[in-house]
Amino acid sequence: MQSHINQPDGVFPSVCSLDCPDQCGLLLHKKDGKIIKVQGDPDHPVTKGNICNKVRNMTARLYDPNRLKQPLKRIGPKGEGMFAPISWEEAIDIITSKWKDLIELHGPESILPYSFYGNMGNLSAEGMDRRFFNKLGASILERSICNAAGSVGYSYTMGGSFGIDPEETIHTKLFIMWGINAVSTNMHQVTLAQQARKTGPK
Ligand code: SF4
Repeated sequence: MQSHINQPDGVFPSVCSLDCPDQCGLLLHKKDGKIIKVQGDPDHPVTKGNICNKVRNMTARLYDPNRLKQPLKRIGPKGEGMFAPISWEEAIDIITSKWKDLIELHGPESILPYSFYGNMGNLSAEGMDRRFFNKLGASILERSICNAAGSVGYSYTMGGSFGIDPEETIHTKLFIMWGINAVSTNMHQVTLAQQARKTGPK
């Protein structure tokens, strides 16, 4: 497959990398090697060019001059927002020496790794950190707190952790969207519901 990384200009197909099940098809507009516009791909069979505002405006986040690009060390009391930039070496030194102290004093289970997806990717989602913390003997967390809680809640409500193929929902006679701001958090289901409503369902 041809790489688009070294092509400074053009419109390139992509897919949203955020931790969102919709995985919208995207068209990235590049000029002089920078992404200048993120557009929904109208030819994607499910998401059909509809994307959320968060990703539509992603270039502002990508190129924001205040974007965090290096470790910061807190240099004042907690909550006062006083930080100073430090090198990666210094940051890693601080963390490893604190961890070594903790392990010596309280054992490795005193360390609780907590993270979840953010961006979907082999490194940021379920990468080497699992092996690393396992080897370290750290505590085990059902990652994440929010997803595990949501799954348990879904099981209590629905009797199991299963779902419905969204495209099948256009055949329903009644939609109930309960406890959800679907316009914000499940936009493609709303599109399907609107499509269904034209043929009769409430
Ligand atoms: S709805 Fe937004 S966050 Fe979710 S996949 Fe589409 S563009 Fe990404």
